[in-house]
Amino acid sequence: MRVADALAPAPSSTPTFTDRVTPSEISSMTQRIARAYENALSEASTGTTWATTFGKTLDALGRASEASASVTLPSMTHGDKATREASTRGKDALKAMFDGTFARREVYQAMARVGADSAPNAEARRASEYLMREFERNGAALDEASQKVLMQKLGELEELCSSFCAAINEDTTKVAYTEEELEGVDVTAYDEDEQGARLVGLIAPDMMPVMQFAKRSESRKRMAEAKARQCQDVNTDRFLRVVELRNECARMLGYKSHAEYMLKPKMARTPERAEQFLRDLLVKARGKLDGDLKDLQQLKDEEEGPDAGPIQSWDVAYYSTKFKATLGVDEAKIREYFPLEHVKQEILSTYQSLLGLTFTRVDAEVWHEDVECYSVREADGEQNVLGFFYLDLFPRPGKYTHQCVYPLRPAFAADGEFTPAACVNIGNLSKPSADGKPALLRFREVETFFHEFGHVMHCVLSKSQHSVHAWAWSAVPWPGGVEQDFLEVPSMMLENFVWQPEVLVRLSKHYSTGESLPKEDIDALSASRGALEGYARSRFISMALFDLAVHGGPGPYEFEGQKYDSIDVYNRITASLSKIPSIDGAFPVASWFHLMMGYSAGYYGYLWSEAFAADLFSEFEAKRPSVCDPALGRKYKDMILAPCATVAGDDMLSNFLGREASLNPFLKRMGVL
Ligand SMILES: [Zn+2]
Repeated sequence: MRVADALAPAPSSTPTFTDRVTPSEISSMTQRIARAYENALSEASTGTTWATTFGKTLDALGRASEASASVTLPSMTHGDKATREASTRGKDALKAMFDGTFARREVYQAMARVGADSAPNAEARRASEYLMREFERNGAALDEASQKVLMQKLGELEELCSSFCAAINEDTTKVAYTEEELEGVDVTAYDEDEQGARLVGLIAPDMMPVMQFAKRSESRKRMAEAKARQCQDVNTDRFLRVVELRNECARMLGYKSHAEYMLKPKMARTPERAEQFLRDLLVKARGKLDGDLKDLQQLKDEEEGPDAGPIQSWDVAYYSTKFKATLGVDEAKIREYFPLEHVKQEILSTYQSLLGLTFTRVDAEVWHEDVECYSVREADGEQNVLGFFYLDLFPRPGKYTHQCVYPLRPAFAADGEFTPAACVNIGNLSKPSADGKPALLRFREVETFFHEFGHVMHCVLSKSQHSVHAWAWSAVPWPGGVEQDFLEVPSMMLENFVWQPEVLVRLSKHYSTGESLPKEDIDALSASRGALEGYARSRFISMALFDLAVHGGPGPYEFEGQKYDSIDVYNRITASLSKIPSIDGAFPVASWFHLMMGYSAGYYGYLWSEAFAADLFSEFEAKRPSVCDPALGRKYKDMILAPCATVAGDDMLSNFLGREASLNPFLKRMGVL
């Protein structure tokens, strides 16, 4: 589909995508990619030089990754169900193909004979070491019989994790309420059963209105109990077996535990460092937690009387909503200042001026008429295209229903030619209506858009020579990307800008008066940013500590001088650190996706990223009155975004900061330092 307006012609390096693709074409594309990849790996297994082993494999990874987006993108964006399903099958097949690479002993042995040290330059050497490490993590260095046992265990693990997640996705538990029991909640959103009871499911959009607005504490309690016990009967044993298998596999590979195995290639490096980070923050957050609980308790006492009793888990969302309402944030009013088209233009323009870039909308072939394609160049200096991004912002039937950035092509060089990266920002923002009234964004949507665009920049500006160092995450089948606990750092740092008054003034424009957001609303928004953070952080830390504990080896687990099994220790840690009792007989881990989806021993990473992002942002804060300092923005582009995974996260931080990274800016923002 072509866009008719007068757009700049698409540069020759623009990737092409089309919606005119059939399930059988997807299947033959998948086979073509797999054949070419297989041939390259077979050749690499007989190679005798760096170029014919490591080099050959890295090139094959780059080319197969590049080709894979045409197979996998329709699963996220196509309107036809059969095409989406074919695309998902293709994605699974490519994932198995890429994963299978690192179990191949003959390729590993050929590389081991040549050695990563023979790489022609530092970046190639780092990529070679990455390959060796991945092979070793898949047992290619073990004897053949042991590798077979390891593969069996890994296979069992994969099956358990996928049935764990499927059980949650397929869970149809509903909690039935009379309309009186749902006083305070808009009941029309829920189906009725034959007796006229309203049925509320356990997914967030169904459940949250009850937790936030149901006046009756008994109603919220029933919801909280159902959620805490979700899938407990089927998933508890799966979880215990998964943890056991993970620790066994790690020990076979010479690690003390799964946590040690997982953290070795990350920025944190060791479970001890991650745990220390969490404990340091916990101590600091404690005072704020007490204050938060006092605020919530006061609201509870006011509403329920002096015998209301202490705050319970089912009170938190309800009284938090009430507490936030006292801060003067008028969401409906604020929304009128954020018409989509203005916000979009201003986000693009803020990024261009901050990072010294020019975005040009180009006439590329795209997969839907709503989709826009942009090329990215330096604002001055060399005029090579650095990369491409697509904006696919509006919902359509069959399209992925959340916001995300999906990489379409890694930045890499093969046969002396550099291929610039490409990605798409997939959104679900409301479309302007036909009567000319603009689509208005909630502030949360503005913030997410700004954050996601940070990922776009990180992806597109990558100058990696090997695809394994380009921007990627687990949504795409190909291997590589930055350290998992660093992945969010660059975009979380950029997200800080959206909270700055000078940026808010720029992003806002009342849809009818054209005025910027008034100062009183900006102040109210700023005040709300850290609201009840003490509770939220403490709760998060308790879950992250549990994750590290169970993945740190077999139990029993010691906590506060007592020994517990993995079920009791979860309830003890969360209740003790968040100071709110857990629900009797429940094991909420049975419906917790993260630990089954690549974030095992990695939940700490979100907080970790946020803390280091705050440190990076402190350099911009030092430039007040204007935090949008273009010289510093360019330095950020060159030292944090462009290197992508070619430099370790720790090193990028100290290169940019000119000092060791510090937690202090984050603690200051939380108001606990
Ligand atoms: Zn993100």
